[in-house]
Amino acid sequence: MIEFTPQGLYCPAGNFYIDPWKPVEKAIITHAHSDHARWGHQYYLSHHFTKPLLQLRLGNNNYHSVGWNEPIRMNDVKISLHPAGHIIGSSQIRLELKGEVWVVSGDYKIENDGISGEFEPVPCNTFITESTFGLPIYNWKPQPEIFANIQNWIRLNRSAGKASVLIAYSLGKAQRLLKALKEVCDTILVHGAVWNAHQALVSAGIPGFSTADLPVLEKVTPETPKKKLMGSVVIAPSGAESSPWIKRFSPYSIGICSGWMQVRGNVRRKNADAGFALSDHADWNGLLKTVKDTGAEKIFVTHGFQAVFSRYLIEKGIAAAEVKTEFGMEDESEIPVES
Ligand SMILES: [Zn+2]
Ligand SMILES: [Zn+2]
Repeated sequence: MIEFTPQGLYCPAGNFYIDPWKPVEKAIITHAHSDHARWGHQYYLSHHFTKPLLQLRLGNNNYHSVGWNEPIRMNDVKISLHPAGHIIGSSQIRLELKGEVWVVSGDYKIENDGISGEFEPVPCNTFITESTFGLPIYNWKPQPEIFANIQNWIRLNRSAGKASVLIAYSLGKAQRLLKALKEVCDTILVHGAVWNAHQALVSAGIPGFSTADLPVLEKVTPETPKKKLMGSVVIAPSGAESSPWIKRFSPYSIGICSGWMQVRGNVRRKNADAGFALSDHADWNGLLKTVKDTGAEKIFVTHGFQAVFSRYLIEKGIAAAEVKTEFGMEDESEIPVES
């Protein structure tokens, strides 16, 4: 039902693509990260919550949106979106044709973060899964434990008179942090990129992003007084940790929030003071559990450690194959130089 073409995942029966990387006529978009939601399509279909984020990223286009579990048809193909739990609006795409079902996962995480919708395994014949963290070393701690660690780190920095600069992807991760830090912070300073993503969510009226749910957010500008910067809690995107932008918070401590921080060497490599393995993707066990829960007879493995993960599935007696795509790793910040 799906072909792997140079433009992306293509469904000939419905004449549409899913997350294509080249401009096409009709695109169904799993979520608003830039390696999945690209510029130049004539028609975009996504979840309602993804639409304002596409607007932010790509400007005006021919956008259409649906809710989860609201089937529509393109030619003979029945299409429905189901929560992927990855970021706000992220969806798995279910396709049904003549009794056969395929599901494209996009990026997903199975732990409910309270803002992205709760992941549901969708029964299917063929499942196309990501494998960003498809190595057995990647196993996440429960989020309350990670958030408690971050909160303690902030308290320690405060008592040492330092600002706490958290590096987190501006769409998804940053919002999880905002919610989790309300207990320890009345005000959080944010980098412009985090500010813009946040404003898009607020003005779209997406539930959970009203001011009552979150600490007060302030955008850092050249005019922000030094007094406010001292000892503050800051959220900034990847790259800010090694740019002059961060110097204004001196003295400060840097904490990077990314699945790659599970590997200690990566914390050192990024020159961070602390690493928190907080991810928006399924870990090794999450990937395996999902593959089993779908009941699929055939698994295609896309971006990440697709060779390792597909080989493991084959050893376990599950028909699997790796697929080359142009999906990247932008949402966890660029570390995978695993050798
Ligand atoms: Zn993503
Ligand atoms: Zn991805």
